[in-house]
Amino acid sequence: MAIEEIIKKFSEVFEGEMIFPENDRYDKARKLWNGLYNKYPAAIARCGKPSDVVAAVNFVRENDLTFSVRGGGHDYAGNSVCDDGLVIDLSSMNKVEVDPNIKKAIVQGGATVGEFDAAAQKHGLATTTGTVSTIGIGGLALGGGSGYLSRRFGMTLDNVVSVEIVTADGRHILASAEENSDLFWAVRGGGGNFGIVTSFKFRLHKVGRKVLSFQAYFPYEQSREVLEFYRDFMAKASDELQCYAFFLNVPAVEPFPKEYHGKTTCAFIACHTGDPEKGKEELQPLHNFGDPFLKFIQPMEYTALQKSFDAGVPKGLRWFTKAHYLSEISDTAIDILEEYTQQLPGAFTMTYLEPMGGMVKRIKSSATAFPHRDKAYSLHILPGWGEAEKDKENIDWAEEFHRTLQKETVGGVYVNLMSHDEEERVTAAYVQNYDRLVEIKKKWDPDNLFRSNHNIDPG
Ligand SMILES: Cc1cc2nc3c(=O)[nH]c(=O)nc-3n(C[C@H](O)[C@H](O)[C@H](O)COP(=O)(O)OP(=O)(O)OC[C@H]3O[C@@H](n4cnc5c(N)ncnc54)[C@H](O)[C@@H]3O)c2cc1C
Repeated sequence: MAIEEIIKKFSEVFEGEMIFPENDRYDKARKLWNGLYNKYPAAIARCGKPSDVVAAVNFVRENDLTFSVRGGGHDYAGNSVCDDGLVIDLSSMNKVEVDPNIKKAIVQGGATVGEFDAAAQKHGLATTTGTVSTIGIGGLALGGGSGYLSRRFGMTLDNVVSVEIVTADGRHILASAEENSDLFWAVRGGGGNFGIVTSFKFRLHKVGRKVLSFQAYFPYEQSREVLEFYRDFMAKASDELQCYAFFLNVPAVEPFPKEYHGKTTCAFIACHTGDPEKGKEELQPLHNFGDPFLKFIQPMEYTALQKSFDAGVPKGLRWFTKAHYLSEISDTAIDILEEYTQQLPGAFTMTYLEPMGGMVKRIKSSATAFPHRDKAYSLHILPGWGEAEKDKENIDWAEEFHRTLQKETVGGVYVNLMSHDEEERVTAAYVQNYDRLVEIKKKWDPDNLFRSNHNIDPG
């Protein structure tokens, strides 16, 4: 029987929404954030409840069908949609329930960062999520999750208390420190390799509604001094302070001065989430530094801060990704950063350094599957462009930049920043935790059912 017929038959009993190529909703539903991938699944099974996920998992396993799992659809590598198979789509499973008394939230596996942040912030609470509101909590939390709060509260995955998960054999079970603890360890970093998480229970923290935001944009010519200052400043920063160093093209909008529109800038994008007076004091040296063409320091709603990058990463553009970890920002690394960023190839291209440290570092590397606790910076090379004929130019730039920088890095890669052509780097994503992950994969998914991801092969 053709795959379409098999799925049509299944759709008669499937209680979620089945979207076929002939349906109006198909095109919107199949498209990912990254326009570099344009895949055509045989159908999209949009699940509304955990039993829909169980039914879909049993169906693809019993019929040996190609399938993928989609949360927020922001996978850089495009793994969450497949050609000619079934997409198990969780985007309608986006409920967030917050209990402010015990500072916990139950978040369904298809919710976005924005949905989670908004619900928690009604009570002045938050936990570490990513810095773009449209990304999915599913992919974020299962791979790692870093953002403005990670130095203070750890990665997103460090704040997971338990998960409800549908495993390869179709069971819907709980995994926590007490129950199925090996699986709980593995899902915190192991990505979508171990099953489909229908809901996460998260620990929340009192953050308040407003945080102190600071941004400064410098003429590109000052980038060396900016980075030299930055590395000294971050070496002494408190856990409440997070500051990214960005290279990007100046957007052609207010309040950026017209003469800088479209030019490359080096910028500090910072936030202090602790006591506002302490924040002002700690941000003062950044505020006093250099000669930026635009800077501001202001209290900002946390949810607004969490959306402030959204416009810079529009859905549907073509994106490619390369990442490294650094133990320091060496003089040679600054030389290489300057060499490759002076002319960014795509209109939305950026490169940024994200400091790790703080609580991320204080948690043991063996505590969860995410091993990169001791790294000082995560570096992300992210070209973004519009025209298919410019794919090679942008991808070549990122690959050469990445290769040249290799000698200044400490190895390893953050699994959530890997591209589609890096499967040989999966061991580098897990280093000393890889063998344990393989053992747990052998137990929970011996036939490698969940493989449309950065795959941990049970062998
Ligand atoms: C614009 C942008 C900004 C980003 N910013 C940050 C950031 O600030 N910090 C950070 O740490 N990362 C960041 N990332 C990386 C992000 O964490 C990953 O891309 C993540 O995989 C996105 O999750 P998603 O659910 O949207 O992705 P999807 O494309 O839906 O899923 C990615 C993979 O995750 C798995 N998956 C998703 N949901 C589930 C689930 N419920 N159960 C089982 N498996 C699941 C699937 O295997 C799928 O292949 C960013 C990415 C983008 C595109």
